[in-house]
Amino acid sequence: MYNEKIETMPREELEQLQVEKLQSTLNRVYRNVEFYKKNFDAHSVNIENISSLNDLKELPFTTKEDLRGAYPYGMFAVPLRDIVRIHSSTGRTGKPIATGYTRNDLKNWSEMVARLMAAAGLSDNDFIQIAFDYSMFTGAFGIHYGAEKLGASVIPSSSSKKIQEQILIMKDYKTTVLVSSPGYASAIASNLKEMDIHPDELNLKFGIFGAAPWNEKIRSTIEEQLHINAYNTYGINTLVGPGAAGECEEKCGLHVNEDHFIVEVIDPESGESLPHGEEGELVFTTITREGFPLIRYRTGDLSSIIEGKCSCGRTFLRIQHVGARTDDMIVVKGISFFPIQIEDILKKAQDTKPRFRIVVDNVDGNDTLDVQVEVSDSLFADEVKKLVELKAFISNTILSELGISAKVTLVEPETLRTEGKNAKVFIDNR
Ligand code: ZN
Repeated sequence: MYNEKIETMPREELEQLQVEKLQSTLNRVYRNVEFYKKNFDAHSVNIENISSLNDLKELPFTTKEDLRGAYPYGMFAVPLRDIVRIHSSTGRTGKPIATGYTRNDLKNWSEMVARLMAAAGLSDNDFIQIAFDYSMFTGAFGIHYGAEKLGASVIPSSSSKKIQEQILIMKDYKTTVLVSSPGYASAIASNLKEMDIHPDELNLKFGIFGAAPWNEKIRSTIEEQLHINAYNTYGINTLVGPGAAGECEEKCGLHVNEDHFIVEVIDPESGESLPHGEEGELVFTTITREGFPLIRYRTGDLSSIIEGKCSCGRTFLRIQHVGARTDDMIVVKGISFFPIQIEDILKKAQDTKPRFRIVVDNVDGNDTLDVQVEVSDSLFADEVKKLVELKAFISNTILSELGISAKVTLVEPETLRTEGKNAKVFIDNR
């Protein structure tokens, strides 16, 4: 364990620590962030009265829209001179969300990641290849500094490379641990076949996958294809990036770094807190973040808190795997993915809930993938350039996140609804 004292802290002690850190966070945000002062006042919240974890539910939620409304620096809780790093979400339309980190935030972030990497089995003997995009996105940088802190040899290969080049780096540098999106790992597996490289010719022991929804079925496919153990990691840009929660070697839920976050599950409709074991929306409160604290942030992700102790000995609560929960896996050119992963990419592209259809066919022995997406009338009335850009963004993101080349067809509103309410999202013509 990277930090045994903290990671195995008795619950009572841990919860006391959380309350203390929560109180100091509340004081800071009330003083330094206009949004929180107004929001607490509007809900008649007196932060002096928040004296237990149970009182948390008295505090109003913070939403993605609130963060967008404060773009770029409205939610920062320290003077900008104390900010040493800025990341942002990839809002293509509408405003993105910018987040800032102080030196302390970066130190804490590295430790959070180091713990989770160690929980999955990473040590200073490992070569860890990071196939995430090094960009405004937090994924690559978060894992990078956490793995370095742990003492592993970091290979910052990035995901912008051709997959064949990625594989050659993996082979030549004797990479033992791969970090990527699950779709990218599947793409590596299918390219290995094409390059006639057997997975056992590589030195890979395990992989840590995140940044896209996946599930047990995808896990077992990746494990079989690459002959590795596959672990799940969870984090979102706004919260901190990777490092919020991750699996230990038991693979039975993701431990939340609870000395930095308080996690809740709520009913997404009523906003009521749900008991452990019940599925709802994950809500996180940061309790150590200096630059960009978040109080009861609604993530939009569905999960539940797992009851009971984990046999690894950590006392941190575990959450269920977040993401693809349906069994409608699609396999194209040996790469498996879920409609929800396409939906996720489309949401990034248009910032609204997309209506789309996935059509798979086989032409001359080759699988083809066509993603048909409805776009708004106004966009059609707009310049052609914007449509071309949107198409390119969607196909490039599908290629970089899932490793599949897709044809993207933009269609007018209502076009995909002609078959009625139960119109199929996936059509297989093979
Ligand atoms: Zn565990």
